Amino acid sequence: MADSGRGILLVVSGPSGVGKGTVINGLMEQYPDVTLSVSCTTRPPRAGESDGQDYQFVSDSEFEQMRRSGELLEWAQVHGRHYYGTLRQPVEEALAAGRTLVLEIDYQGAKSVREQLGEQAVLVFVAPPSWEALIERLRKRHTESEQAIAERLASAREEIENMEMYDYVVVNDEVAEAVQQLSGILLAEQQTIERFDWRRLRDELLAQADGWR
Ligand code: 5GP
Repeated sequence: MADSGRGILLVVSGPSGVGKGTVINGLMEQYPDVTLSVSCTTRPPRAGESDGQDYQFVSDSEFEQMRRSGELLEWAQVHGRHYYGTLRQPVEEALAAGRTLVLEIDYQGAKSVREQLGEQAVLVFVAPPSWEALIERLRKRHTESEQAIAERLASAREEIENMEMYDYVVVNDEVAEAVQQLSGILLAEQQTIERFDWRRLRDELLAQADGWR
């Protein structure tokens, strides 16, 4: 996969409750050609979630089958419970077509993607402004029991411990500001010399320069 197109795999991680989804949605509103990868998971759907849109909800044995057959680019057990994974094929297709695909995955997945795709993956860590703010946001969601919140806080700690491997950090204090920061990262990455078709541009400009009298 190392030489697949010039697309960008924008990997976004951060503690549960930090607002990754909101910030990613804000980015996609500004850039409608950016798409979000739909992961597979063994966790049951929450109220309001639909299969194929939020996740592809699969059984333990289906997940195991996907893992064994190499269909998953990366996978991890998150919050010490369920399994989550990214399908390889849509990622390969997006990159080959030069598109930007966002993966909202945990730090274990981000690590695995970096190992496989190197600099083609851009790793962004979304951090809360404070630990206190994170707890407050998790409680406000009302989607999790106290037990689940405790599990999420334990994972949040692990995520924060692994911040060092990321390329960029976005602090989600004000959503609009965080969206602007993420957009800025994407814009800058699209203009890197490696991603830009610089040889063609250079040759065109030089040919024009030579023909100019
Ligand atoms: P939730 O159960 O709240 O939807 O997701 C829990 C966490 O699982 C998210 O914070 C996200 O980081 C992680 N996650 C979601 N999809 C994937 C995936 O495909 N791979 C990995 N490694 N983590 C994922």
